[in-house]
Amino acid sequence: MALKKGEITELEIESAAFKGKGVAKKDGLAVFIPNTAPGDLVKARIVKKKKKYREAKLLEIIEPSPKRIEPKCRHALVCGGCTWQFLPYSEQLVIKEQQVRDHVERIAGLSPGIVEPIVGCDQPFYYRNKMEYSFGSRRWLSDEEIRSDDYVDDSAFAAGLHAPGRYDKILNLKECHLQPEFSYKILDFVRSWCISNDIKPFDTYNNEGFIRHLVIRNSHFTEDLMVNIVTFRDEPDIVNRLCSGLIESFPEITTVINNINDQLNPTAVGRYEHVLYGPGYITDNIGHHSFKIDANAFFQTNTKQAEKLYRVAKEYAELSDDELLYDLYCGVGTLTLYLSDQVERAVGVELIDVAIKNAKSNAEDNSVSNTEFVLGDMKDTFNDHMLNKFGKPDCIITDPPRSGMHPDVVSRLGELAVPKLVYVSCNPSTMARDLKELKEHYRVEKVQPVDMFPQTYHIEAVARLTAID
Ligand code: SAH
Repeated sequence: MALKKGEITELEIESAAFKGKGVAKKDGLAVFIPNTAPGDLVKARIVKKKKKYREAKLLEIIEPSPKRIEPKCRHALVCGGCTWQFLPYSEQLVIKEQQVRDHVERIAGLSPGIVEPIVGCDQPFYYRNKMEYSFGSRRWLSDEEIRSDDYVDDSAFAAGLHAPGRYDKILNLKECHLQPEFSYKILDFVRSWCISNDIKPFDTYNNEGFIRHLVIRNSHFTEDLMVNIVTFRDEPDIVNRLCSGLIESFPEITTVINNINDQLNPTAVGRYEHVLYGPGYITDNIGHHSFKIDANAFFQTNTKQAEKLYRVAKEYAELSDDELLYDLYCGVGTLTLYLSDQVERAVGVELIDVAIKNAKSNAEDNSVSNTEFVLGDMKDTFNDHMLNKFGKPDCIITDPPRSGMHPDVVSRLGELAVPKLVYVSCNPSTMARDLKELKEHYRVEKVQPVDMFPQTYHIEAVARLTAID
């Protein structure tokens, strides 16, 4: 039997697969290996055996791909956040565009020629407006430490990001280049402050300790900067002292919040919160609209690129001021509001009630009066009752989560055959799956990939569909 589990083999990486793994072919099988680039010659160990493919762990790069560059960050290969820092940004774009073409061709059965050249990001680093760091009492060991014959102590005050797929181990971050530099400097300050003040990190093994997360949000268009300290207990004395230290060392901070998550779930969202300093929110803009963003509100994480994405959606929707628009999976209504001045009326639909509340207040704050927001699960809400209430739309924008649309929603869209359908997607494989069904009722005219998250494997794409008469 070809390529057994545990076998060590030499492989040449031919391409990059979705989720950032390199792919090699051997004995008629595809082998997926993380941290490899097209053109690498590597030694790898087979770690998982499946019927049609294998997964392998990189042991050694025998001959690096000529495309490889030195990653900017020392944590690039272990962190799991950045997949492709060892490739120049221009190469990352080539891979992402090709992946969209592959999905459109192989899964949706459409011509790859409908895929437009990818829209890249002007700023391939420091583009995120939010980072969520975690604290823990066990740090993630390096490969070297794991291989070492000596006992290695993993107990430590660790502050950074979760090791890939682990909630209990934290990669102790010394740098990160996805949010502007102040971000990891603030993290560093909080780590040192806690150590010197004997403040313990929350420990998921015995559910003890104090500090759980640090969430840093900044605005792209204003100078606003928020620090949100998430703790296990409500202890104003400690957080107020930390808050004073933060403001003294980082005068650019405009607001400090304390979220208290006294539950066992490992999220950075507290059961309640206190505003320790400033207004408790930051303000950012997309298009002509401005948005008040609370510590726990959803907002697009790459503000500048979100605007580019929305511009594509707007162009594909070709709206006019007598039209009715539905914005399915509308989140806090950013896209609904962005397009509201193009149409007579826009209706946003969304599952999360806080998001609907935010969407309504965002509309009010921006004096937009032609939008409606409907709360509910799409598969139950997007029904005849809704169509009777608001009317049949001239255009639908749909922006589902990574899992794509529920099959009932896809068939509903098929039956409706609205004149224009714009599909905004954060996962080209589920988008392609849905397009395969939709193409029975719609012409899929164009697909525009947009890169929102440089250095990572994530890809956003917008498709324009028109009803087949
Ligand atoms: N269009 C928005 C957000 C899209 S993210 C923007 O540009 O900001 C996808 C959204 O789909 C999320 O807000 C999520 O809460 C919502 N969602 C996920 N499953 C859903 C469902 N079954 N029904 C309705 N909305 C859902």
